[in-house]
Amino acid sequence: MVYTSLQSPLTKDYLYELNIAHLYGNLLNTYGDNGNILMLKYVGEKLGAKVTVDIVSLGDSFDNDYYDMVFFGGGQDYEQSIVAKDLPGKRQAIGNFIQDDKVVLAICGGFQLLGQYYVQSNGVKIDGIGVMGHYTLNQENNRFIGDIKIHNSEFNETYYGFENHQGRTFLSDDEKPLGQVVYGNGNNKEDGTEGVHYKNVYGSYFHGPILSRNANLAYRLVTTALTNKYGKDIILPSYEDILSQETPEEYGDVKSKAEFDS
Ligand code: GLN
Repeated sequence: MVYTSLQSPLTKDYLYELNIAHLYGNLLNTYGDNGNILMLKYVGEKLGAKVTVDIVSLGDSFDNDYYDMVFFGGGQDYEQSIVAKDLPGKRQAIGNFIQDDKVVLAICGGFQLLGQYYVQSNGVKIDGIGVMGHYTLNQENNRFIGDIKIHNSEFNETYYGFENHQGRTFLSDDEKPLGQVVYGNGNNKEDGTEGVHYKNVYGSYFHGPILSRNANLAYRLVTTALTNKYGKDIILPSYEDILSQETPEEYGDVKSKAEFDS
């Protein structure tokens, strides 16, 4: 059953409404990923939107026309394998949502399952829904864990996070990375890419959660969803007006152990 997990206070006046589907939010919510939902609500409200977040999970149908945004979080292999069995029923609707240029944020397990397939740490291959071209291999007795920083040259933005994944993801030719790795492992530790940017889908291995450490990305996602729905001519407060003071760039960088010790 689809149910509302979070909603803006009904006592205020809003200019806009944003309806967010939190895919499998009761199963995929590792490492504080749900903080992304809080951040979407926070930024949405600052931009004048009433935000409603629904959990859309096992057996539920996903209404791609009703929702303005999707958040798809990460999880352990076990939960991911349960989700993978349910996803084919939502494949068409999620694919249409993406092709309609609607906004998706997919973290770690969610990012993997939008792609072709994911090989679990035990070597078992599970199908993704294949609405995007990337695929994910496993690695033996290792995980990529630690702080990470990337740079997106298209937006000239830097993003910070904490990665924790065993999967090694490889992008397809029609997919751009979310950024190039400055430090950390990224998608696969081989090609210097991290995450994905395809149409208005943003995928990443960043926990932390990604949006609370990177308000610039949160602003991009929410303003894209609002202009998709209400038209490019709506006048929205700038990032500088509402968010830049809250996340100075220098707070993002992680000090090395030597710097902490000195
Ligand atoms: N289970 C997946 C992996 O280990 C995804 C992990 C996650 O979502 N944090 O790669």
